[in-house]
Amino acid sequence: MKPLTREAIKVQLHKARLLLKCEIDEKTGCWIWLGSTDKRGYGHIKVDGARIPVTRLAYALWKGKALPPDRKAMRTCKNPRCFNPVHARVKRMKLRRTENVQGQ
Ligand SMILES: [Zn+2]
Repeated sequence: MKPLTREAIKVQLHKARLLLKCEIDEKTGCWIWLGSTDKRGYGHIKVDGARIPVTRLAYALWKGKALPPDRKAMRTCKNPRCFNPVHARVKRMKLRRTENVQGQ
């Protein structure tokens, strides 16, 4: 058996971190985050010192590719704590530039 690369080990580690703090809703298929959340109830996790949304991390881990900075993983279900990548749809984020745009 080939040894795993550091990157592959990190993927397994982060998947395990997410799954250890998750409860699966068998009716909806939602992966409900039991860890810390922000004020709006969205799950966050610390990775390499930065807090990132669990949906973003789950998407990168299970889809095998990171989301570009201007995209986010939106839920297709109604559960704000769900991070099942199957329930995520990629959306382009609107950049807030009103101050620069106005009056130009
Ligand atoms: Zn869901």
